[in-house]
Amino acid sequence: MAGLYIHVPFCKKRCVYCDFFSSTHLSYKDAYLSAVVQEMTLRQDYLAGETLDTIYWGGGTPSMLTEADFEQVFEAVYRLFPVKEDAEITLEVNPDDITPDYVSSLCRLPFNRISIGIQSFNDEDLRFLHRRHTGRQAIWAAQLCTDRGYGNISIDLMYGLPGQTPARWEQNLEEALRLNIVHLSAYHLIYEEGTLLYRMKKDKCIQAVDEDVSLSLFTLLIDRMTDAGYRHYEISNFAQPGFLSLHNTSYWTGKKYLGIGPSAHSYNMESRQWNVSSLSLYIKNTQNGTSCVETEKLNIHNKYNEYILTGLRTQWGISLSYILTKFGEEKYNYCKMQVKRYTDTGILRIYDDRLLLSRNGLFISDVVMSDLLWVDSYTKQGI
Ligand code: SF4
Repeated sequence: MAGLYIHVPFCKKRCVYCDFFSSTHLSYKDAYLSAVVQEMTLRQDYLAGETLDTIYWGGGTPSMLTEADFEQVFEAVYRLFPVKEDAEITLEVNPDDITPDYVSSLCRLPFNRISIGIQSFNDEDLRFLHRRHTGRQAIWAAQLCTDRGYGNISIDLMYGLPGQTPARWEQNLEEALRLNIVHLSAYHLIYEEGTLLYRMKKDKCIQAVDEDVSLSLFTLLIDRMTDAGYRHYEISNFAQPGFLSLHNTSYWTGKKYLGIGPSAHSYNMESRQWNVSSLSLYIKNTQNGTSCVETEKLNIHNKYNEYILTGLRTQWGISLSYILTKFGEEKYNYCKMQVKRYTDTGILRIYDDRLLLSRNGLFISDVVMSDLLWVDSYTKQGI
């Protein structure tokens, strides 16, 4: 089983915090759609004939495409790849693109999961983030999708905004729960270099929340969502039973996926590939039949590191016996040595032979993961 990701690189305007690749030049849309079909044709062997059990349209803003645009690409997907009958097929949408007519058009397409980029229900937050919608529009969009029969709806929320208090964050969570959506992805605001937000912080126009506030917002998130019956199955993701995101879970559990479109990444257990982050180059190269993909062959060290970085994010954690079988005794001994201080202090919990981050461990997951990673100098120093 494998996944297909299609990156739609268009946005009406840029949000202050975003470093995803996208362009506001919609005039390239037709050329982009042809290039997507062409790229799938060129790279259909990357998944070695495996059946797609997830298809994910992300962006950018995929909801800027029309029904005819989607049909053109879906026709090629179903022609080029075997697709599981009940595959999870997700579309990311922006709330302001959602109208009754638009949702009707989505219902005629294969989508069975909608992921709504809400970020906040608070208009002040939304203005600060340069989002295009209001809190009311966000609620209306989610309700409209529900009313039209979409039972599998996810929303994205963002916390850790400058000046955000636990009370204000809690209002967002309460609104999400009132909507009874089945899945929530909640991300702490990050100051990515190159974004307007990064500059605002550097110029001291805004101040990031301090660590204690971040911690209390994250704690509130976990408590509120788990109390409401959601499963905290990945650091930033919560789902009602039966509604885990299969597509994202396949990233974290090492399944193959093919990424189509500019800046999209691919993985097939042997290599990682990533497309050029330029719309014009992507279109030009793809239409000429030349590759616009860079490749990194994965060696045993990369594969081990990949396993640590993805596995520890999830509720399934990492398995020591798997490390021994897949990566050998040296990595197994190294991992056992590195985890000791964390198991002794309760940062990592042990279940059978699996290691999982505890609640306290979740708060410092980056530090724990980086301590478990294999570094080349390890062998050289003969530790
Ligand atoms: S957050 Fe989404 S809508 Fe905003 S600029 Fe990034 S991709 Fe576009």
